[in-house]
Amino acid sequence: MPFVFPPPPVPSVAVFGDSARLPVRRIFCVGRNYAAHAREMGKDPDREPPFFFTKPADAVVDDGATIAYPPLTNDLHYEAELVVAIGREGFNIEEDAALDHVWGYAIGNDLTRRDLQSEAKELGRPWDWGKGFDHSAVCGPVHRHEATGHLSSGSIRLAVNESRRQDGDLSEMIWSVPEVIAILSTSMRILPGDLIYTGTPAGVGALVPGDVCTVEIEGIGAISTTIAAH
Ligand code: MN
Repeated sequence: MPFVFPPPPVPSVAVFGDSARLPVRRIFCVGRNYAAHAREMGKDPDREPPFFFTKPADAVVDDGATIAYPPLTNDLHYEAELVVAIGREGFNIEEDAALDHVWGYAIGNDLTRRDLQSEAKELGRPWDWGKGFDHSAVCGPVHRHEATGHLSSGSIRLAVNESRRQDGDLSEMIWSVPEVIAILSTSMRILPGDLIYTGTPAGVGALVPGDVCTVEIEGIGAISTTIAAH
């Protein structure tokens, strides 16, 4: 089929130990999935059902990249997150079977224009401008679950210029990975290449030009992102 101009390249993320890359279809993100972070954002962390927002697939950024400080914000925040890569489609997935749909796990950084997100919350507007901007979805290499096992506990930490800012454990998620997959799949069919950012622990804060932000998750290593100096 001819196109009126060349179609865009397929967005993708690296795969650990492989030169082949994992094509990205959609990016789903869970809001407020760690109790202490919900509290720091002024919310009651009771088990109200999880909610989701999305980012464009082509917002993905590899480990080691230097990205420009984004436009329209004076409050760019980091959020350390476990990313789940989906490898098998499904709809209305049972929690018991949810992990069968996981291809692997990666370390993510859900970059956020916090001032735009806060304004959107106040005005009852969508979060897209706060969350879904260019280069907002840092994602390190995806590790095959066959190599790592399924991740349900282990430290998740973030540092800015080697100063520790977030220090949590995956076991502190309010909604576990199987629960998140099961609930997400009641809303839409999940498909290979979908990425799920599973929420961030407490300690979110700002990045400024020149900062180096590193995120590490026990069992799958560490990634780093540099915010370009002006
Ligand atoms: Mn997040």
